[in-house]
Amino acid sequence: MKKPLIAGNWKMNLNLQAAVELAADTAKRVADVTDVEVAVCPTFVHLAQVGHALKASNIALGAQNCYFEEEGAYTGEISTAMLIEAGCKYVIIGHSERRHIFGEADDLINAKVLKALSAGLRPILCVGETLDERKGEVTEKVVTKHVIEGLRDVSEKDASRLVVAYEPVWAIGTGVNATPEQAEQVHELIRGLLRERFGEEAATAIRIQYGGSVKPDNVAVLMAMPEIDGALVGGASLKADSFEKLVRYSR
Ligand code: PEP
Repeated sequence: MKKPLIAGNWKMNLNLQAAVELAADTAKRVADVTDVEVAVCPTFVHLAQVGHALKASNIALGAQNCYFEEEGAYTGEISTAMLIEAGCKYVIIGHSERRHIFGEADDLINAKVLKALSAGLRPILCVGETLDERKGEVTEKVVTKHVIEGLRDVSEKDASRLVVAYEPVWAIGTGVNATPEQAEQVHELIRGLLRERFGEEAATAIRIQYGGSVKPDNVAVLMAMPEIDGALVGGASLKADSFEKLVRYSR
């Protein structure tokens, strides 16, 4: 049985001391949780020390980005080998802030997904439409493109290590979450695309997270939807008490 994955995306927040304290506090609070997988994704420069604080905990470490080349003259970039060395299991790829602020397109995102998989990491591929795209009724088209192009050349063998996060851009950091029905509709679309691409068994094994203003008061109804296998969480992951409530959504 696949476990839901609740992952915190700390973005460019916290200083080192606060990040380490948050990691330690969160680890203490969720130490008894076995039915949900938990991960946190601090900024690059905090990875090693946050990873140290999470040692012997049940929380996995993730990064917020990576580059697709092995090594070399790529000023400012971080390789997958460096992430593994820092203790990462997951890496977020194609977050909407990367797509919309930094102009990352599907071909670059795809190269990163392939590199992460070949390095042994578990990519969390983020997909999702903007508000204009939803209003323009092209959500299906946009999400289909993100999934198909983002996963180009991914093998069936690697597919079970994938995580896809459906994150409608209009719901990220806005306090306006997609309704469970809106999210489920897109998750069904994504599951269907994964089925076509990788077959029934592999597609079922892939976790599809929902992300976008997930909070303690809406997590349970979202997680109750059949195709929602976890959450990617920004704001509510920055406080140990609210993140703990998300992890314990079913109790
Ligand atoms: C995110 O950035 O991935 C996210 C979902 O943010 P928030 O939970 O704050 O909407």
